[in-house]
Amino acid sequence: MKIAFIGLGNMGGGMAANLVKAGHKVRAFDLSETALNAAKDAGCTIFSSVEEAVEDVEAVVSMLPNGEIVKGVYSDSVIGTAPKGAVFLDCSTIDVATAREVISAAEADGYEMVDAPVSGGIAAANGGTLTFMVGGSDSAFDRAKPILEAMGKAVIHAGDAGNGQAAKICNNMLLAIHMAGTCEAFAMAEKLGLDPQTFYDISSVSSGQNWSMTSYCPVPGVGPQSPSDNDYEGGFATALMLKDLRLAMEAAEKSDSAVPMGSRAAALYEDFNGAGNGGKDFSAIIKTY
Ligand code: NAD
Repeated sequence: MKIAFIGLGNMGGGMAANLVKAGHKVRAFDLSETALNAAKDAGCTIFSSVEEAVEDVEAVVSMLPNGEIVKGVYSDSVIGTAPKGAVFLDCSTIDVATAREVISAAEADGYEMVDAPVSGGIAAANGGTLTFMVGGSDSAFDRAKPILEAMGKAVIHAGDAGNGQAAKICNNMLLAIHMAGTCEAFAMAEKLGLDPQTFYDISSVSSGQNWSMTSYCPVPGVGPQSPSDNDYEGGFATALMLKDLRLAMEAAEKSDSAVPMGSRAAALYEDFNGAGNGGKDFSAIIKTY
């Protein structure tokens, strides 16, 4: 297929390269020259505007920083410019309301579109092992699925437009809660005289077991290899976790949802990020206990 790819940063660069590897012709655009050059080296054809990149394509994929940018790119340069019949896939993490707004604007102009945010970081984007949670009509999902499969290991239909973003922020809110809870439990266990490895051996096979403990343990040297073993470098940056938590808090307010645990986790990550830890893996929050 001829696919336009807009936003070739840390995530988009690897994703576009995987579309090329799958045999697609990728027409790439990014505001950054460095990102464009890397895309060219990966086999994409590069363009100097979104409008040129989306000419004559069957699909448009975007991986952009936030909702305002996504809305601007689609309303100014994609909707009405891409050929009628093209399908649009926005893989950025953005707020649910903007995702729904952009999709309904695309549909009003006769296009099909899905929101398809991802779980998995830069390594998964490069390795083609992302998980996509997809919102949109059955027909838009069916068209998006084979394109997403070239960039990921799992593609799950979450329901109507915006539901991909809803799944993503609810999942990441839960992740922040169980990471903070896991850190809290390890810190208290140690103060009560328990060795962290011993606590792990017990809790990992008891009812406190959870992903933050057994797949991503925040205590160095305990559990499988994780960013804590590398002084909390790499992994999922605190600033990105905070971005998702802010989106979750915004969605909670708009949907009148009670999120006492989520809002506490968001406050903890606001403080941790504000103390200069934005670049550290989000499990480094254990240092505050
Ligand atoms: P990034 O900042 O590395 O990349 C974004 C790219 O978009 C940049 O290259 C930038 O130049 C480009 N861009 C900005 N405005 C543009 C415009 N108007 N037109 C064209 N290009 C434009 O960010 P990233 O880490 O690749 O993240 C992208 C999205 O993926 C975000 O929504 C993020 O929340 C989400 N995400 C990131 C991760 C991660 O681990 N990095 C994981 C999951 C989801």
